[in-house]
Amino acid sequence: MSSRFHPVLVNEPFSDPGLYVELMFEKRAILFDLGDLGALSPRKLLRVSDVFVSHMHMDHFCGFERLLRVVLGRKSALRLYGPPGFVDAVGHKLAAYTWNLVDNYDTDLTLSITEIANGGDRRTVDFRCRARFRPENERFDVAPDGRLLAESGFSVRAAVLDHGIPCLAFALEERAHVNVWKNRIEDRGLRVGPWLRDLKEAILRDDPDDTPIRARWRADDGIVERTVPLGTLRGDAATVTAGARIVYVVDAAPNAANIARILDLATDATVLFIESAFLDADTDRARERHHLTARIAGDIAARAGAQRLVTFHYSPRYEGRGDELAAEAEAAFRKPRQGL
Ligand SMILES: [Zn+2]
Ligand SMILES: [Zn+2]
Repeated sequence: MSSRFHPVLVNEPFSDPGLYVELMFEKRAILFDLGDLGALSPRKLLRVSDVFVSHMHMDHFCGFERLLRVVLGRKSALRLYGPPGFVDAVGHKLAAYTWNLVDNYDTDLTLSITEIANGGDRRTVDFRCRARFRPENERFDVAPDGRLLAESGFSVRAAVLDHGIPCLAFALEERAHVNVWKNRIEDRGLRVGPWLRDLKEAILRDDPDDTPIRARWRADDGIVERTVPLGTLRGDAATVTAGARIVYVVDAAPNAANIARILDLATDATVLFIESAFLDADTDRARERHHLTARIAGDIAARAGAQRLVTFHYSPRYEGRGDELAAEAEAAFRKPRQGL
């Protein structure tokens, strides 16, 4: 596991689904789904900066109030993202309460609520505590490259799946890092210095080999400057390590279109967290309920080349038989495959 992300399921697999991802070294966390959050302490909830909600069925959304209760008066900003209808759903929850004493709170909490449709069209509306959580500042845009959240070190992408209604699946992707080998830089007659930042950026952008890189460093007799083509540094002097990819998939009908969308999101996942609601023997029921089976979940993990598979969101009908669901998914994941 990469050092940056520390993902932990909020509950055991028969309870409400949810994934809490701590961003190491930042005192910050990202939360996927808002079901029963009773297992998360206020200290953990206060770290959450961004919440991604797959859809508004109760087991994925009823924890909104608990989160709000903890952060109200203590945090000044929280961003939430969800499927079409999400802005109004949050607005209705907020409208259900009375907000006449909000001026007493220490912070003016702003909830920025974004909903995303197929194709990346986004609508964002703010709900601010001291404005009595009435909708403000509505804006529309298109998520760049389908990314709901893009920061310098990582991003979150969503896919819209079919669950009888739109349901979002998410990939939290760490940016690749470039490791520079000092001895190999020196072998080329150069010295390390702040110019390595430009080198790393050029490599991450995949600039052509003939791109000039200006190496500059301080020597005993002053500043030395030399320009070299990127191609002479790329390779053994500066190696690229792929970033971690954490993928979260819940409530999806077992159909080909969904599987293709999940595969696109989950390719080379470091860890794939995926619902395994039903056993393969109950595929008819899985279709009726628009949920995946354990076998399909394992099969997707194998086809995506996931490093690790974690199954959860088991149907209560299998209470006491969770091992069977996990084993069925694991068997499909480990099955030798041909022609992929
Ligand atoms: Zn659902
Ligand atoms: Zn569900």
